Amino acid sequence: MVDCQIFSGDILQEKLHMTRHPGSDPPPFDTQVVGTKENYVLLERTYCYPRGGGQPGDKGKLFSDGAPISDLHEVLPGEMILHPVDDVSVFSVGQEITCKIDVERRNAHTLMHTSQHIFSAIAEDIWGAETVGNQIGATKSRVDLLFEDKEIFDPDELVNSVNSIIGSDIDVKVHEWDRTRIMEHEKMRHTKFMHRIPESITHLRVVEVEDVDLCPCAGTHASNTSQIPKVRFTGKKNKGKGRLRVSYEFE
Ligand SMILES: [Zn+2]
Repeated sequence: MVDCQIFSGDILQEKLHMTRHPGSDPPPFDTQVVGTKENYVLLERTYCYPRGGGQPGDKGKLFSDGAPISDLHEVLPGEMILHPVDDVSVFSVGQEITCKIDVERRNAHTLMHTSQHIFSAIAEDIWGAETVGNQIGATKSRVDLLFEDKEIFDPDELVNSVNSIIGSDIDVKVHEWDRTRIMEHEKMRHTKFMHRIPESITHLRVVEVEDVDLCPCAGTHASNTSQIPKVRFTGKKNKGKGRLRVSYEFE
């Protein structure tokens, strides 16, 4: 959502997390090493989600000929997605490898990230509070909200509304829309950062929680709100004028 990397097509590398929805249960994938850089392996194609938009990057394991050759540390964004390993010298250009993403970790982030779409949408609908930052984790998250008057914030109202949507069996859809359609859609949220995306990217991924949220986003998402656990408010912190850092966790 905020600060997402909204890269759609890319000639250098197939970024498969962008095309795969839902973003849960990513399968092991075969790929080829196309280079190394510092402690990073560069892959021809990758399903790995690179850290961004407040969502942590994937971790996992890399295999060669069926045998593990390296742990994969938190994957980072870049023109080429960066796959950090302990020792790049065990890899060679052209080598065929298999990558197994830590599925449990990814699934937790996918559910949490999807819950944050709902959380941010509801805060905006009730109080006009804009999400200006967020950090999600596997079991808990925090969202920075900007209010005109933060005294009106009521955690029970927010959490009850979020849980009512989570319990409502609402589909989460992914679209590939052009810039004009995105900018002109009256229900579109979070378009402020659109100017930072290179003009050469003509189509962006849009995520829709039906009748709840609609915004450009490159994160990973559940396919239905009923997959998300209920949430519980865990605290708030003042972060300057009008700003509240609101924390929540899965029940
Ligand atoms: Zn998202």
